[in-house]
Order: sequence, then structure tokens, then C-alpha cells
Amino acid sequence: MHFRLSARTIISRLIITLALSAIVGFLLGNTFLFVAFSSVTILIWHYHHLLKLIKWLWRSKTISPPESEGVWGRIYDGLYRQTKKYRKKQKILNEKIRQFRDGAEALPDAALVLSDELIIEWGNKKAQRLLGIRWPGDIGQRIDNLLRFPEFSQYLEEGNFETPCHIPSPINAEVILELRLMAYGTEQVLFLARDVSKIHRLEEMRRDFVANVSHELKTPLTVVRGYVEMVQMTEHALDPYWHKVFNTMETQVSRMDRLVEQLLVLSRVEVKTDEEDKQFIDMPKLINALVDDSKWLNQEKNHQVSAEIDEKLCIEGIDNEIKSACLNLISNAISYTPANGNIFISWQMAGNKAKFLVKDDGPGIRPENVNRITERFFRVDKSRSRDTGGSGLGLAIVKHVLNHHHAELSINSKWGEGSEFIIYFDPKCVRVIS
Ligand code: ADP
Repeated sequence: MHFRLSARTIISRLIITLALSAIVGFLLGNTFLFVAFSSVTILIWHYHHLLKLIKWLWRSKTISPPESEGVWGRIYDGLYRQTKKYRKKQKILNEKIRQFRDGAEALPDAALVLSDELIIEWGNKKAQRLLGIRWPGDIGQRIDNLLRFPEFSQYLEEGNFETPCHIPSPINAEVILELRLMAYGTEQVLFLARDVSKIHRLEEMRRDFVANVSHELKTPLTVVRGYVEMVQMTEHALDPYWHKVFNTMETQVSRMDRLVEQLLVLSRVEVKTDEEDKQFIDMPKLINALVDDSKWLNQEKNHQVSAEIDEKLCIEGIDNEIKSACLNLISNAISYTPANGNIFISWQMAGNKAKFLVKDDGPGIRPENVNRITERFFRVDKSRSRDTGGSGLGLAIVKHVLNHHHAELSINSKWGEGSEFIIYFDPKCVRVIS
């Protein structure tokens, strides 16, 4: 440790040295020569240390600087302390990086650190196994250059990273990956890929099971319905007791038939559709037909059905799916609105989106149930829903259909005052005819 060296000490030392050499020179009869000699010696001494410092900075492998006294000792000492401080910080940082890497390696998911331009900066070993990323060869590559799947490109384009994206693994098409992107820090994105093949297979099995059972139930139901209708036409049905029995049987068979039909529709719409299956849909024609049907359907309840339809507004989508979604909203309004109520249907542009609205002044939905009514088999009031023949599947079907059509369902309802179900279609589906 060197003593403190102030600017005053350094300058006074220099002056003393020069003054001493001037005195010696004066005594020996050549002041200038002695002062010049001392100055050059001081300069050489400084240059010597400067070169030593450069050599140490650029070529030396040790962190201890060269030994020296005075001002250079002070410089070396300061540099040594700075280097030690920097090394200590680097050690702490390295430890933190090691802990982060260990944590990332322990994850059950493939993890990649991307720049905000989606360039790969780092990844764990799982990323090599699940995504086929090679180290260090793929560092610096854009992730969408390595994962070339239309679903993934679309996911990046849409930029809605709250929901995951599913793609097959690039090294094994049977492995299904769930991808998530999360921004962190200022310019980094964390990319996580999880193997969800098992869940996917179970989901597929559940879907197939429901579809198969529903399909198998259709034939016996048709037979039973046929027999019930046949018996209803015979003289047995004239007996008031049997008349009631057969009517109940017919109602229940019809309910079951509707339920099976909805289960089949749900298992159909649950499967992801190809963008190529989408066609131009003449929405004004489709909605006008549904409005006419609804007027006919609600004769008993005498609802006031009014509609406002933009005759030029069409969309691109899957015809029977869109029809089923719109029909579900209209038939719900008819089922749940009491007699003499009002139902308003509208098909208009709202900003750059197309908006399909069904509004009624029925009983409304309690706020705590609004978020749940699109769950399958969820019915707010089971007995009321049973009376209307409801299965609790209608809005689940609507939700799945909308997922295929870049569309959203918005539900506004005030308990006791009525409900408003709105479908917003994304501008990319909207087609305006001239
Ligand atoms: P359901 O076949 O039972 O009608 P849905 O999935 O279509 O099944 O609807 C779920 C629940 O949402 C219904 O049971 C009903 O309670 C509520 N609901 C749907 N539409 C309306 C509406 N227009 N007014 C009041 N409640 C509604």
C-alpha cells in the first residue's frame, strides 16, 4: 500500500529536484547543463514506466502490476485495485449467470433467450433435443428461420403472446410443442417450448370418444323416435294417460337428439380448420334467413324481432360454422327472453371490424356468470335451461367457431335488464361488396 500522494507533493518534489540540480550546477559552474540533465533523467524515468505500463496492460498475464515507487507506484497501485474490483464483480456476475443457466437447464421446457429481433442468443440443452437447435452454429439466427411453420409465422405476426401457439417438433412430427414468448429485461425475449403431446393425445381421444358416442347414439335415437311417432298415431295414444306418456317420451327423445347433435357439432368445431377451407360468405343473406326463421320460431312468445343489416358487408369463413354461431345467439335470445320481449339483431361495421349483435330485454346474466357461460355444459339456471331445451353447449360451440375466424365474443349483460351478445370479426376476414 502506497502513501497518499497529492498534486502538491508531486510538484514540490519536482521543484526540489530541479532546484537541487540548479544549485549543484551553479556550484560546478554549469547550471543549465545540470538542470537539463535532471529534466531528461526525469523524462526517461517517466517513459520507462510508461512502457512498463503498456507492456503490463497488453502483454502481461498476471494481474499484479510492476513494482515502483512514487507517482508510478501510486498509478500501478490504483490500477491494481481497479482490476481487483472489476474481477470481483465479474466473479459475482459469472456466479449469477451460472445460477441462471443451472435454473434454465433444470426447467422441463426448452428455453431460448432471444433478442427483441428474435435472434437466438442462448438456449438450454432441452432446446437442442426438442427444437433441433445446434450450438453454437445456430446462435445469431432468427428463430423463425429455424422453425418454419405457418402457425408460428402467424403467431409472430399477430403478436398476441398471451395465448400459446402449438406446432409439431421440427425433429419429430409426432411431438406437439406448446410455444410461449415473454418479453423480459429491456431488449430480451424468453422463448419456452413444452412437450404437450400427451395432453394433445388425451384431448384427441376425448374428442374422438365424444364424437363416436354421439354418432353411435344417433341411430338408436332415430329408431326410438320413429316408434314413438308410430305409436302416437295409433289408438293407444288416444288414452289420456298414454297420450301424456308418449308426449313426454317424444319431448325427451327430441332433447336427447338435440344434445347429441350439438355434441357432434362441438366435436367438429373443436378441430382446427384449414385457412383454405374458408370461403366468401354472403352474410346479409345468411342473417336475413336466420331473422326470418327466428320470427317463425318465436310465434308462441310473440317477440318483437327487429334487424338492421348492412347489405354490403360480407366475410370470409366457414359457412356452416358461422351459421351455427349466429343461430345459437339468436335462438338463445328467443329461448331466454320472456313473451312479448324485444330482440334486436344487427350486422354493421364497427371501426374496421364487422360486428354481429343480438340484443334482448330478457332476464340478463349475473356478472359472476358472464365469464362462465361459454364453458361447455355451463347453464346459469339448470331448470330454466332444461325447460328451454338447453344443453349448455351452444356458447361453447360459438367460442370454438370464433377461434377459427379471428373473431371475438363480447357479452354485455345487466341482471334483470337484458343481454347483448356481440361477435367482432377481424378486418382480415371482412369483405365489403360494391
Ligand atoms: P344452452 O343450450 O343451455 O342455452 P348456451 O351455452 O347457449 O347453453 O348458454 C349457456 C347459458 O347462458 C344458458 O344456460 C343461459 O343461462 C345463459 N344465456 C345464454 N344466452 C342468454 C340470453 N340471451 N339471456 C340470458 N341468459 C342467457
